[in-house]
Amino acid sequence: MKKIVVLTGAGISAESGIATFRDANGLWEGHDVMEVATPEGWQANPALVLEFYNQRRKNGLEAQPNAGHLALVELEKHFEVEIITQNVDNLHEKAGSSNIIHLHGEIFKSRSTIDSGLIYDIEGWELNMEDTCEKGSQLRPHIVWFGEDVPMIEVAVEKIADADAVLIIGTSLAVYPAAGLVGYAPSDCPVYLIDPNANDLTVIRDNVHKIAEKGSVGVPKVVEELISNKN
Ligand code: NAD
Repeated sequence: MKKIVVLTGAGISAESGIATFRDANGLWEGHDVMEVATPEGWQANPALVLEFYNQRRKNGLEAQPNAGHLALVELEKHFEVEIITQNVDNLHEKAGSSNIIHLHGEIFKSRSTIDSGLIYDIEGWELNMEDTCEKGSQLRPHIVWFGEDVPMIEVAVEKIADADAVLIIGTSLAVYPAAGLVGYAPSDCPVYLIDPNANDLTVIRDNVHKIAEKGSVGVPKVVEELISNKN
């Protein structure tokens, strides 16, 4: 069965009511990312960082997958599909996709600050100061912050290097190493870019099919095309 690798970013969740990052002048929900999404920000003010992610989680609890997420579930009925997401929300899971690699962590999980192997599900939306791991240390959001290692990148490289087709959806491709992943796709493998801001100046590599549409429109279109051209 053909393998399709899908790289998603914040844009696929925009129509589910979750704000993207770069569409807001470098501010994320009104916050400077250096304050809320870096190890330095955490050292300076952990309570602010916890509160920031609590609010994102509260919003995320109510969010529902949109037609873009759902079309990727349909794609699984016809192809082997691997989703590599930069998103920390759980909308691919809520939609029902099976194979999901979270490059930048998951907002509904927490992690020990002294043992990164201790990862827990968060029930509801709150993670607070004094919430500790089983070794007694403060819990932090299970998120890869700017400047931190991306442990899942090697698995992601292996997956994309073996792809028969690649879909890139709703990402500004500004965050590395995720942005470099497409460079590992085989040179003869078709690449589809679905993003309302895709234009002639968007250079990723040769022979990219650019679909300048929102995810809810562009993803079902490409999925339909892939399925109908399958044989
Ligand atoms: P980004 O904010 O840098 O870029 C968003 C992209 O989505 C833009 O290219 C924009 O044109 C496109 N877009 C806007 N509306 C769209 C729509 N309706 N359909 C399809 N595309 C649309 O996002 P990024 O490249 O993912 O990088 C931001 C980083 O911040 C990520 O690494 C992620 O970890 C984090 N983040 C995550 C979430 C989330 O989990 N949903 C939300 C915001 C930020």
